[in-house]
Parts: sequence; structure tokens; C-alpha cells
Amino acid sequence: MSKSQISPIEVYKILPRTNCKECGEENCMAFTTKLVNKEIRLDQCTPLLDEKNKSAYLKLWKMLKPQVKEVSIGTGDRTVKIGGKDVLYRHELTYVNPTAIALDVTDSMNEEEFKERLQNIENFYFSYIGHDLTLDMVAIRSTSNDPQKFQSMIKIFAETSSLPAILCSFDPEIIRNGLVLIGKDRPLIYAATKDNWKEMADLAIMYNCPLTVYAPNDLDLLKSLVRTLLEYGVEDLVLDPGTFTDEGLADTLNNFTMLRKAAIKENDELVGFPLLGVPLTVWIDHEAAPEVAIWNETWLASMLITRFADVLIMHSLDGWSQLPLTILRNNLYTDPRKPVAVEAGFKTFGEPNDMSPLLFTTNFALTYYTVAADIEAGGIDCYLMVVDTEGLSLESAVAGRKLTADKVGEALKEGKAEELVKHKMLIIPGRAARISGEIEEASGWNVIVGPMDSSGIPKFVQVEWPKKLNE
Ligand code: SF4
Repeated sequence: MSKSQISPIEVYKILPRTNCKECGEENCMAFTTKLVNKEIRLDQCTPLLDEKNKSAYLKLWKMLKPQVKEVSIGTGDRTVKIGGKDVLYRHELTYVNPTAIALDVTDSMNEEEFKERLQNIENFYFSYIGHDLTLDMVAIRSTSNDPQKFQSMIKIFAETSSLPAILCSFDPEIIRNGLVLIGKDRPLIYAATKDNWKEMADLAIMYNCPLTVYAPNDLDLLKSLVRTLLEYGVEDLVLDPGTFTDEGLADTLNNFTMLRKAAIKENDELVGFPLLGVPLTVWIDHEAAPEVAIWNETWLASMLITRFADVLIMHSLDGWSQLPLTILRNNLYTDPRKPVAVEAGFKTFGEPNDMSPLLFTTNFALTYYTVAADIEAGGIDCYLMVVDTEGLSLESAVAGRKLTADKVGEALKEGKAEELVKHKMLIIPGRAARISGEIEEASGWNVIVGPMDSSGIPKFVQVEWPKKLNE
């Protein structure tokens, strides 16, 4: 049974049902609803942690545990959690733990180049509708095949980067040399194969690190290795069925899809682990020009993000590769049950006074952040009233009657706009022009129709606002 099909009544029956409110909810039924929707954690019902409720806790834990195991990489603030999925498609509930993106460095780089790339990976940042887009991990590859060389680069990594690591080599001796230095930081080991699984398993157990299982294009072998490793005592596994380009692309996507379907729809516990893709393979043994390789790696990564990859190892650090990927990931992992909205109310930009312009927009996050960015870029001192349109964009809100003249009037009143500015003039978005008369009537404010696009706000305020003040 998919977790999206769990009956709240079945869960409710197992809870203590005392309505004690220790979880912060009004009653046990309210807690149940949030629990099955993954909006609250089981251990927030503290009475369940009592010894006498142990069997109920375990029963619920088993019932609610994700079909794809959640595996953590790293420690402390920068811990990356992957997997933990309950559904095949996001609209069935929601996706959790966005696909983690790891960028590679190699032990064949010179020290300066190595450090600079580490810093570039760590410094990648873009603000997108209120979300911080960053990269998650560093994959340190042994291309020298020299254990000492690998260890010296791991030392530099430990001194330079705060991101979690993936240690990449099929040679257990090389992995051991890395773990000696950063094993306590819980890196992901890449990878156990049919030839080295025992040595890699011993290292994973000794250092309590998650372990990747690699069986290229052979799902039977992959499952057999997983069974062996679980019996051996390794619990946190990550599965790599191989990432192939060109004529191998169809197999790659099929394998990822079959593994995730088997985990979620068929409850196959042997494949209920996070999936790892390696778009970086486009760079290996291919003779394409670098810009073509970046393009190939980017579309391959985008396909894997939509086809259930929980972690990716990549090489392209260019903005035109990582920016669309991190935005795609961000969009896919928003909760479809909640509108992408910001809090309504009054925002201040720069240092406005009581004769500064007052504008308004909706609380749809994309609209708000676009308007805010344009105001900031223009260096304008003003107030911006954010009207609650239930997360709808301006035109949709006007068409759907979520943005009405009455609502704008109420927002002005509730926000005590008359105490903020003396001029009683409101600049409305050009796309709300058709309700300008209604707004004037409902609010008693003078309405000025602003530009159609928020990029026109700086010029509009510079040129039109002084004229309006002097009229
Ligand atoms: S803490 Fe547990 S028993 Fe108490 S109200 Fe919440 S769900 Fe019910």
C-alpha cells in the first residue's frame, strides 16, 4: 500500500487517543490528519514514547516509514538527507528531500585548482522566489589510483570545505585512506560492486557510513548485492544502476523507473533505497567539445531528477548548467498541496518616508519576488502592500475574484496605510487596471495605474511619481 493511501482511521485507532494536546494539536484526530500528510512527526506525540506505548509506537513507525529509506550523508548543519520517498508522483502527496547534487573534484588536480573548485562549489548560490539554490556535496574521485595522493587531497578537502563528501573509488584501500581522515563526518562511500563488496561493507560498518551499491545495467545483480549487504549488517545503502548516454539512455531511465516503481508500488524492500545517478559519465570516454558535454550532462541530469534520482554526481559547474537544474529541482520538490505564497502585509524597501510611493502586488511568491527584485534593482524607497490572493498570480487572482477592490480596501485599512503615508495615493499594477475604479470607490484612495510589467516600476516612480505629488 502506498503511503498516500494510508487510512487516517487506522492510524487514529493506534494512537493513545487521550486528546492531551502535548503534540501541539487540538486533539488526536487533528494530529492524525497531519501525520498521514507528513506535516508532523510521529515522535511529536510524546505519550507514544512511554514504555507502555512502545508497541503502538513501533506499529505506527512501521506503518508510516517511507518506502524508500531516508539516508543521511554528512553530520551537523550540512547533513544531506536523501530518499525518504513515499510516492511515485509528487501530486500523490509530496516529494521530500530534494535530489542532492554533488560536484566532482579529483585527486589528479593540482592543489590550487582543487581548492578553487571546492570554493566555487561551496559558493554557488542563487536566490529564487525566496529559496536559496545551492549545491549540496562534493564527490572526491580518485583518478590517480594512488591511496597516498587521495589521502592528501582529502586532507585539503577537510580543511577547505564544509560540504558532505562522496568518496569515489572501487579500490577499498583508497576509500580506507579517505575514511581515516573524514570517516567521522559520515561521507557516502562510492561504491561496492560484486568484486569488492565485502571490503567496502567492512569499511561502511567500521565508520558507520552509507554505502553505494553499483551494478551497471543489471538489476538482478543489484538486488542480490543489496540482500548480501543487508545480511552482512550494512543498513544505509544507496543504489546506482548505472548512468549511460547515447544508446544506453533508454536503459538508464527504465532502470531508475523500475527500481522506484518496485519500491513504492510493489513494496520491494530490497530496492527501497535512494537512487544515485552519475550524469558525469558524459565526460568519460567521450570526445565532444566541452560546451556540448555540459549540454549533454545537463539534460541527462534533468531527466534523472524527474526520473527519481535522489542524488547526482556531476562535473559541470557552469551557471547555465546548474541554474536551470537547481530551479527544476526546486519546482519539483515544492509541496503541491500548498500554494507558493509569501506572507501578506506591508514591506518596506530602502528608507521610505510619509511621501514615498505605496504600491501593491499579490502574495504569489513568483510575482512578489519579481516585483521586489525590480524595486531593489531600481534603488527605490517605497512601501509595497502584499495582498493575500491565496497564492494566485495577479491576472489569475483578478479573473478568479481572489483580488477584488474590497480586498485591496481591507488590506489598506488593516495595514493602517494612512499612518504610513500622507498622500493617500496607491500605485496599482497595470494588469489590475480594470478594477482601478472599483478600488478607488471601495477604498477612498486615489489610484494610479502603474506599469504592466514590474521592470517598469523604477522608471515609473522616477518620472511619474513626482508629477503626481505635484498635481
Ligand atoms: S500528544 Fe498524542 S495523545 Fe496527546 S493529543 Fe497529541 S496525538 Fe493525541
